[in-house]
Amino acid sequence: MQVGPEATELREFPLPHVGPDSALLKVEAAGVCGSDVGSYTRWGGAPRILGHENVGVIMQAGNAFARRWGVGEGDRVAVEEYLACGHCEHCLRGEFRHCAETDTFSNPGALRYGHTPITTPPALWGGYSHYLYMPASAVLHRMPEHIPAEQAAMALPMANGVEWAVVEAQTGPGRSLVIMGPGQQGLSAVLAAKAAGADLVILTGLARDQRRLEVGGRLGADVTIEADREDVHERVREITAGKGVDAVVDTTSAPASAMVPLAIDLVKRKAGRIIVQSLGGTISAFPIEKLARKYITLKPARGHSYASVELAIQRIASGKYPLERLATHTFGLSDVDLAIRSVGGSGAPGAIHVTVLPWQRES
Ligand SMILES: [Zn+2]
Ligand SMILES: [Zn+2]
Repeated sequence: MQVGPEATELREFPLPHVGPDSALLKVEAAGVCGSDVGSYTRWGGAPRILGHENVGVIMQAGNAFARRWGVGEGDRVAVEEYLACGHCEHCLRGEFRHCAETDTFSNPGALRYGHTPITTPPALWGGYSHYLYMPASAVLHRMPEHIPAEQAAMALPMANGVEWAVVEAQTGPGRSLVIMGPGQQGLSAVLAAKAAGADLVILTGLARDQRRLEVGGRLGADVTIEADREDVHERVREITAGKGVDAVVDTTSAPASAMVPLAIDLVKRKAGRIIVQSLGGTISAFPIEKLARKYITLKPARGHSYASVELAIQRIASGKYPLERLATHTFGLSDVDLAIRSVGGSGAPGAIHVTVLPWQRES
């Protein structure tokens, strides 16, 4: 449990009462997200259990809950981070991410796994825990039994890759894109773009990301660029004979103010789509005219739809991709601090995707 900025402790809670429309998950694996690194340094004033990329086995399920999702006790499922109302226009389209009840951007009281504090009963709102409480608003996916726990925990970052690099960036045969940042989201985006038939995928990172860039190559990146050693704009111009690419997907944690102007330079005239994950920074002279003249669409990367998670799980289940190369580290519950710091680059070296296995015995 997070008890302060970059501070965790273990605490015991009573198991919650499971009514007809709720359930209890025995957490098998919880992926550490890049966003956990930022969340861990921020402190909202109330302790919370982090962990929003959760997979586990249903321990106990009320009748209405079981009927709603067609699941029963003992079933293995992935649980989305969203706790959505289920009946608004967004929920009915499978776009749970936009539901006001779970949208932490627009609703400070929104419920969301890995975000909601323990002061909201029954406290078990995060996956870095033995058990996770699932109210009626939980969103589930079946998880095939044969998928190893660490890869099952990649379902949500893989879904982000599908959503950002394919759906939002409109990738397909003949299309080209630059993916900035070779972390788990960027690498998932590479896999998704190549699987969708993209003809040219350029992955950028820093010189210190060499291993991640190499894994990017294994996942299908056609070219990798070390942005602190090479001029990204020049290289992309060279590779595309001066034309630029169809889309740029920024998965870095650098401020948008640094990445968006570069992305605008990298995309083609009249076709460009830019998807930006990073927030923050201000631009004193935003190149709005360049954006308009090039007829660029600029969109924030904001999670994933239900369909993208289903596709991601299918891809993971296929066994066709070398995902074991992403799964670099696992930690038990008493090492959550180290797990998050490893993703942030200040813990165990060489981390790409890190999973918390709550029932793993500590080393
Ligand atoms: Zn996440
Ligand atoms: Zn809703």
